[in-house]
Amino acid sequence: MNMNTTTHPHNTPPELPLVVVTDLDGSLLDHHSYSAQAAEKALKKLRTLNIPCVFNSSKTFDEMLLLRETLDNRDPFVCENGGAIFIPKSNGNGYNSEILHSSYLAILKVLHSLRQQGFQFRGFNDMTATEVAALTGLSVEDAHLAKQRSASEPLVWTGTEKQLEEFRQALTMHNLRLLSGGRFHHVMGPNDKAHGLEFCRHHYEALWQQPVKVIALGDGENDRAMLSAADYAIVIPGIKNTLELQHPQLRIASKAGPAGWNETLLSLLDDLFKEAHSG
Ligand SMILES: [Mg+2]
Repeated sequence: MNMNTTTHPHNTPPELPLVVVTDLDGSLLDHHSYSAQAAEKALKKLRTLNIPCVFNSSKTFDEMLLLRETLDNRDPFVCENGGAIFIPKSNGNGYNSEILHSSYLAILKVLHSLRQQGFQFRGFNDMTATEVAALTGLSVEDAHLAKQRSASEPLVWTGTEKQLEEFRQALTMHNLRLLSGGRFHHVMGPNDKAHGLEFCRHHYEALWQQPVKVIALGDGENDRAMLSAADYAIVIPGIKNTLELQHPQLRIASKAGPAGWNETLLSLLDDLFKEAHSG
């Protein structure tokens, strides 16, 4: 990757070398309205302190672009559960990208061969945007964005449970895995959100020439590895239950979604700056 970052705003390290890495749905974004409004104060604070805020979710590149624009975020971001990382180019024109394991084309190729072996499924690549919209509840426009993929394929299983187990085994032979979510099974490389976090940590350590501490925020089971890999973990309570996590620097937000994100991050930053100034 060509990393000429001379004019990037974060080329100069913040007073405290911190990076925030966050899940989106149910964490920075409200579970129902998808709004980040309640986190505005903390987002502004990060900008003032020159601390990067890296979005790390299962969303696609195009979905992330839209959100970054809405929230005026200019930092690197991690898509599709750690599958792909995008770092804005210093000239403001596009991104340097890094696929951590398997590219979308490589995944589609494996799926094609498995289908020929008789496995039955329908992936996003087999569906029109209208079909994806009907299945996900997204608008047709947003479904179109969700169909532009970099490193994973959601699919609906139409075979038997036994065949699904065989399919899972077959994927392993190709160094792919199956992550089963609510509506879809996701075929992806052996990456997770923690790989995205580590990539960003190394990115800023190289850029700032010093060790970096990472604050991670998340609410779901698929955030567990990312939270564990962070120096400071903030668990946002989920709708149904709150993730149970063992971590030496753990904070559990008292509110769900962006309100909890805002309050807990602000108080952690406050404590870290107090601690730095008293030492
Ligand atoms: Mg979430």
